[in-house]
Amino acid sequence: MLTNRDSFAAGQMVANSALTRIYSRFRRSRATAPGQFPRMDLLRNLFSRTLGFSSGEKILDELSLEGVAQYIKSGKCKNIICMVGAGISTSAGIPDFRSPGTGLYANLQKYNLPYPEAIFQIDYFKQHPEPFFALARELYPGQFKPTVCHYFIRMLKDKGLLRRCYSQNIDTLERVAGLATEDLVEAHGTFYTSHCVRFLCRKEYNLDWMKEKIFSDEIPKCDSCSSLVKPDIVFFGENLPARFFTSMKKDFPLCDLLIIMGTSLQVQPFASLVSRVPKSTPRLLINMEKTGESDFVAGLLGFGGGMDFDSDKAYRDVAQLGTCDEGCLALADLLGWKEELQELVKTEHDLIDSKDKKEKAEADKTASGTEANTENKASVRMATVYS
Ligand SMILES: [Zn+2]
Repeated sequence: MLTNRDSFAAGQMVANSALTRIYSRFRRSRATAPGQFPRMDLLRNLFSRTLGFSSGEKILDELSLEGVAQYIKSGKCKNIICMVGAGISTSAGIPDFRSPGTGLYANLQKYNLPYPEAIFQIDYFKQHPEPFFALARELYPGQFKPTVCHYFIRMLKDKGLLRRCYSQNIDTLERVAGLATEDLVEAHGTFYTSHCVRFLCRKEYNLDWMKEKIFSDEIPKCDSCSSLVKPDIVFFGENLPARFFTSMKKDFPLCDLLIIMGTSLQVQPFASLVSRVPKSTPRLLINMEKTGESDFVAGLLGFGGGMDFDSDKAYRDVAQLGTCDEGCLALADLLGWKEELQELVKTEHDLIDSKDKKEKAEADKTASGTEANTENKASVRMATVYS
């Protein structure tokens, strides 16, 4: 017979093993130093759920895209948070260049790396910056235009519904689509700004400066102290930007609707954000496949507030499977915003094209009659969208 003491011990073992796994998961998370994640919040969350305070009120009339659209139209949904990943930029032609299996890592042999991930490792970079900058030149987001999905987020902002967009992408397309710094948390950093790596200097450089260095084959060095200058993307072994943690604490308790797009929710601590909205807050996933559903032990403990689309207890999570652009168009349609969205995409894309054309013509004019090499011309062309 199991005594109370036994069952307490057994319960503790389950809890301990789950905690060990959770902690090791955070330790493994590529960019968070141990101690950086607010573990007290995590434990508080874990215990409140384990003790059964976790029932949430049902807000959506139906668990479908229609249900979400009705909720947005009701006027009760004022603070929408978007969480986005590489999937929102694939239709712009940007490769998911952090994920193994995209062919990129296989393409790195020429750089003689000790192992492929070294190219994004901060310690390796400080010793051997050349491979990273060679790769940056190869993959520089040149003529990429924001997607329908990016402009859908911009529409949420224009309509006063966007609390914040949390992005894992470093392609700056959210900014190109018209989101401002305050609308964004770039969880894995951005190419938009760069800094001197020397702790005591940290001089900031802008995108134009970095772009010029990258395309002139020069290793970017600080004007003040000659140390390396690195784009503000988060490397393995670096912390996430402080803004990620401070904004997260302010934003998520206020969230009326979480829209998760184009991310497989694999990278911590980003993925754990889904559990930080209030228990009643509806969560819409627009993605090629369902994701974020918690595993058995985590589910048993109620940890993580994993997504639940299909169980008998499902009450707030909706999955819209397909591309992010299709999903956003479908939602825009239900909201009566479809034409407006299509018009916005067209106007903005035309603007980018004409700006591009103009700058290309100017570059050609400058280049003709001089001995400017083709690489310089290319770099000016590359500069258009992002300047
Ligand atoms: Zn410096």
